[in-house]
Amino acid sequence: MRSTSRILAIFLCFGVAAQAADQIIVLKAERMFDGKSKTLVQNGVVIVQGNAIVDVGSNLPAPSGAQVIDLGDATLAPGFMDAHTHLTLDYSGDYNVRRLHELDLNVSEQAIRATIFARATVEAGFTTVRDLGSRFVGSREFVDVALRNSINKGVIVGPRMLVATKGIGATGGHFDPTSGFRDFLFGREPDYSDGIADGPEEIRKAVRFEVKNGADVIKGAVSGGVLSLADEVDTPQLTPAEMAALVDESHRLRKKVAVHCHGDQAAREAIEAGVDSIEHGSFMKPETLTRMKNKGTFLTPTLMATEWIMSKLDNYPPALQAKAKAAGAARSDMFRNAVKLGVKISFGTDAAVFPHGQNAKEFKLMVDLGMTPIDALKSATANDAELLGIAQKVGTLEKGKLADIVAMPGDPASDITATERVFFVMKEGKIVRNGPPIASTDAKPTEPADVVVPVD
Ligand SMILES: [Zn+2]
Repeated sequence: MRSTSRILAIFLCFGVAAQAADQIIVLKAERMFDGKSKTLVQNGVVIVQGNAIVDVGSNLPAPSGAQVIDLGDATLAPGFMDAHTHLTLDYSGDYNVRRLHELDLNVSEQAIRATIFARATVEAGFTTVRDLGSRFVGSREFVDVALRNSINKGVIVGPRMLVATKGIGATGGHFDPTSGFRDFLFGREPDYSDGIADGPEEIRKAVRFEVKNGADVIKGAVSGGVLSLADEVDTPQLTPAEMAALVDESHRLRKKVAVHCHGDQAAREAIEAGVDSIEHGSFMKPETLTRMKNKGTFLTPTLMATEWIMSKLDNYPPALQAKAKAAGAARSDMFRNAVKLGVKISFGTDAAVFPHGQNAKEFKLMVDLGMTPIDALKSATANDAELLGIAQKVGTLEKGKLADIVAMPGDPASDITATERVFFVMKEGKIVRNGPPIASTDAKPTEPADVVVPVD
């Protein structure tokens, strides 16, 4: 009897859940950015049932029996997307301390921390991220895949993730985790299974290995980087033949290719090879940007990364300071030129270089460098959805799309920093937040970076 009543109770629970799923929710606010229009819609209404949007418009009447959530003097928008995060990592504090922790922390402990970063990200209004690299020295764990799967299964709360696993790069290049350490300190040279590959055939093997292990997107490093000790920031690191193999193999497997690239020559070669997005792009010249525009290649500028490093230069070794200054000095002109030339710009921040959850600060940096607020909002919604290949499901507020919806106070078209004050987040019809965040900001690492996260 007891077990029968328990089973009945379980059925009743499912009954309630099913009813809740059918519940119609009406979201109202004084304004709405729908992801498509050039202006905000006044008196925006989005009607949600289950995980989807069933109607959108101005002054729509609420169906009878609907739960109405009136958000007042606020702006509704599609859930934001960040096309460049590293949710399993955190480089935001003292560089040397972080580097040491990469070596001494148990990977499981780092994975547990990542659940906090995921929550902080979705609570900041970012309902989707393209996570571009997750690597733990000497470990073959795929923590980003685990994080994505756990979010998809509802085990933890976080954004929808498209993950790149390890990122593919050359021996001694930006992604080589043993660069800057004594030769063979880690017992062996990294290989394709660490994402380190030389020559077209090894690059193909690395792509296949990552897709086999759950990659949704392929990340490559085609030039040097700022936060790596043993390379120059703008030198090319893959040959045109290697880039061609990277793109061909990825596209055959229907995966898009994002490449870390600061240098102009590497960018030109990568664009010719057919990559889908150039990440950073600091030193790209107008001629290179024009090629991007003509080919439809996206630029993911990650202005927040340089901004953060420049504001905390003392946290980095002198060699990295010099690279950061050079990249920082070049990227503002590059970005202004990209906007002027009409290059497709995707919103991406490089979260992990700065504390997770501060992604929205990128909007103001974009607007300060010449982008209109509406175009900045589009970059984080419709543009990112197009780049990620998920535009049929998300990115705009339209009937039939998944109900990923955020609200921010006031009018972001007149004050873009409203995006930093998102107070309502819905993902696939479920309310993640309506009011103060659940993830305590205390749980996010702050500088000087101390890896200990308070748990009590
Ligand atoms: Zn990055």
